[in-house]
Amino acid sequence: MNRKPIFAANWKMNKGPSETEDFVKSLLSKLQGSNFNSEIVIAPPFVSLAKLADQLHTATAVQNAHAIQIAAQNCSEYDSGAYTGEVSVLMLREFFVHYVILGHSERRSIFGETDAVINAKIKKAREANLKPIFCIGETLAEREGGKLEEVLRTQITGGLKDVSEKDLAEIVVAYEPVWAIGTGVTATSAQAQEAHAFVRSVISGLYGADAAGKIRIQYGGSVKPNNAAELMACPDIDGALIGGASLEPQSFFEIIRNGTQSA
Ligand code: PEP
Repeated sequence: MNRKPIFAANWKMNKGPSETEDFVKSLLSKLQGSNFNSEIVIAPPFVSLAKLADQLHTATAVQNAHAIQIAAQNCSEYDSGAYTGEVSVLMLREFFVHYVILGHSERRSIFGETDAVINAKIKKAREANLKPIFCIGETLAEREGGKLEEVLRTQITGGLKDVSEKDLAEIVVAYEPVWAIGTGVTATSAQAQEAHAFVRSVISGLYGADAAGKIRIQYGGSVKPNNAAELMACPDIDGALIGGASLEPQSFFEIIRNGTQSA
């Protein structure tokens, strides 16, 4: 199955508009002249979306830049109204946002997002034609307690409840073992491949083999330039969601380059 790899930078609560500007200038100059067969996505904080959209628009117009897609790190499950601090999917559309990260383990553990909330956000995102990057993953205790498959199955079935096959085709899954996020500990390629194959099998059970064969499943958890190639060479890994190493243009660029070459 020919799935285009997707490399997404999750900046979390880092980089305001001026740092975003510096980063994009640097990344674009590194990408100049290269033509990786992969999709590149940047998810800045909300306040930097306008700057990112502006710069990418100008860059694409003037120098035929490598197309970079914009992602938000979250969205509201509501349309509008009295929800202080929230940002709606239609507001994100105005900033040329195409993707939205949903279900990240930090949103689950720090902000208490449940599978039901994540499911509501996924459906709201699809109403506005945003593409969810739907994150799932187990804690170390769950893995060591033999609960890996149960946890992943619950997160997948809960997050995708009543999501149509048509909408599934616009979703990217990110398998991110919680114990590997921001810790410097990466899942081995064998561990990652095993989990990805399991995720695909659960999706196959829900939507059929064809849909499961088409969906892209990113790996996330301490991806770096020196481990990207090995991870991306695994048959069920279709790109990466990158936190820490996406904050430097050079390391983000090297992950895309090394990962694309082996995918
Ligand atoms: C993440 O937060 O999605 C992530 C994968 O972070 P890191 O690359 O820093 O482990």
